[in-house]
Order: sequence, then structure tokens, then C-alpha cells
Amino acid sequence: MRSVHSLSLQDFAKLLSQEGEKPFRAKQIFHWIYEKKVCDWDQMTDLNKSLRSCLKEKFATSVLKQRSQEVSKDEETIKFLWELSDGKLVESVLICSKERRTVCVSSQVGCPVRCAFCASGKEGLLRNLSEAEIFEQVYQIDLFLHSKGERVSHVVFMGMGEPFENYDNVLKAIHLLNDPMRLNISQRRITVSTVGVVEGIIRFTQQDLNVNLVLSLHAPNQHIRKKIIPYSRKYPLEDILNAMVAFSKQSRRDITYEYTLIEGINDKPEHAEELALLLKGQQCTVNLIPYNPIPGLHLKRPEKESIEEFRRILTSYEIVTTWRYTKGKDIAAACGQLALYPNNFKSLPPANF
Ligand code: SF4
Repeated sequence: MRSVHSLSLQDFAKLLSQEGEKPFRAKQIFHWIYEKKVCDWDQMTDLNKSLRSCLKEKFATSVLKQRSQEVSKDEETIKFLWELSDGKLVESVLICSKERRTVCVSSQVGCPVRCAFCASGKEGLLRNLSEAEIFEQVYQIDLFLHSKGERVSHVVFMGMGEPFENYDNVLKAIHLLNDPMRLNISQRRITVSTVGVVEGIIRFTQQDLNVNLVLSLHAPNQHIRKKIIPYSRKYPLEDILNAMVAFSKQSRRDITYEYTLIEGINDKPEHAEELALLLKGQQCTVNLIPYNPIPGLHLKRPEKESIEEFRRILTSYEIVTTWRYTKGKDIAAACGQLALYPNNFKSLPPANF
């Protein structure tokens, strides 16, 4: 059965014509699904019975089944667990702050990158998500918000997976999210985060897009980076930074670096000095993310004083530095905490430092 989400209006109209239906029905059905937020064919009351039974047989409005929903204590973060048609599981997170409703989506089941601080990559990559599976995480959360008179405003590709290891489907999902006939989310409100897949950054730079790109840096040099992100052995840090600078020039946007602070590993004053020299002269922002503890991993979040000192050093080199307030820690929805088997953190192997 084909997901309607992965079909363009034109292709959907063609398929309906092959079934003996008038092509204008495609627009009518899109209107039900994306404007009226109705996914049940039987509720599309202005479609005749035979068309509805044809749709039921051949097309799906949903390829994700919601398995659970967990709300944080402050009620600002909600984690959704989805079951895919092959029984695999992925998570997405809705983060509510002031007028923003941001969805953090997964792009893969598992992750090949295996960052030392992250639950998502512990079992490696199981498979890529299709564009429909990525898009539908946002669509379903948009449906959830619709019942409260709200809608998704921003999307970040920072859930499970490395987006540029599933480049084509991520790109297609971005176009679906941005499609005025569908969710119509502005490209400027979409952010892709990569650990530095150089060919992905180069391809992305060449696309005619207005999407934000963020680099998960996490270390001031290649030696420490290889320990935190084993996958980063594939790419010299210099090549990654050059690719990011080229993206910044092409897109005329400052670069954002994410830096997860782990006690004793990459949080010392000398690391901050080295990082400042590495990024010298760049128009950039460093977003500091204190490590979010995961049971079974023997890593620690630095003390508040160390984080403040790290930030002070970067700022003294005139590097714009933010310290991200961690939302959703209590429901394991914070950065690095999404897992394939959400209740099974205990089986994680120890980090290798
Ligand atoms: S932090 Fe991101 S890139 Fe690293 S293992 Fe986790 S999901 Fe993969």
C-alpha cells in the first residue's frame, strides 16, 4: 500500500485516473488530509463509496502507529514512540516554548555514528527511514496540536540518525514539509544537524534551499573528536570545517556548532582555548549542551561552574556562545537520549574512554 504523503499531487491525480477517477479528486483528498486534518477515508464525506473503498485498498494516510506518548513534568516536552510497518521503533519529540512548537524528528532507525554520549547509536544502524516515515512524524504531531488549535512551527533533524547518511529521503521529506499543499513549514524554520558527512554538506550547499545547517562538533581537535564520535575518523576535521565555511558563504548565514560538554573529556579550560583558536575568524555561534545522563554510560555532566568557565573563555574570544537549557530530561527526550528500546537503557555498553 502506498503512502499518500510520498506522492506529489500530480502523481496522485495520475494514479486516481488509472482507477477511473477524475484527477481533481486528488486535490480534494489533499484538502481533507492536510487542511481538515482528516486521515480516515470513511470520514471524507464528499467522496463516493466506491472511491473510498479504492483508497482504503490502495493508499495509506498513515505508516506510523503511535505506541506511546510521554509528557515531561513541566509539560513542555512530549516524546512520541512510533511503530513502523516492519515493527521497528523510532521516537520524535515535541518541544513547546513560548509560541514555538518544534518537532525533533528521527531520520534513521538506530544510527551508524555511535557517538559515545548517545543512546540512539548504541546498536548501530538498523535501516533508513523513508521520506513518508520522516514526514509523518511531523504530520502526526501536527494533528495532535491541531486539536488544541496549534500547529508545528519548526522542525529539527536532531532525533535518531545521521540525516546525511539518508540524504535523499531527508531531502524529499524537507520538500514535503515545505510543500504549500501539505504542512507549508518555511525552509527557514527547518534545521538539519550533521556530525560532518563532508559529501553531504557539499551536496546540501549546492541545493537551492534556505534550510539551516548545524554541525555537531563536540571536540576542539580530531584526537578527542574520534573518541567522542568514532565515525568521525572518516573525515579530517579541517575538511569538515572548510565545507561548513563554504555552506556559510553560499547561504549567507552564520555557522552554528553544537558542543556537548562531557566532564573530563572535552570541558576543560584548555579545550575551550583550543576551540576558540580553531574557530577564530568565523561568523559562528557555539551552542553548549551539557551531557544528558544515560543509565549504563559512565559519563558525567560537568558542574555548572565548569560550563560557565568554558563559556566565559569562548566569549572572551568574541565567539557567540549559548548554553542550551535542556528540556525533556525526565522523560529521556533530551539530546542523545532517544533510544531504540526506550525502556532498556541498562543493556547499553560502557563508553570507551
Ligand atoms: S548524537 Fe546523533 S549522530 Fe550521534 S549517535 Fe546519536 S543520533 Fe547518531
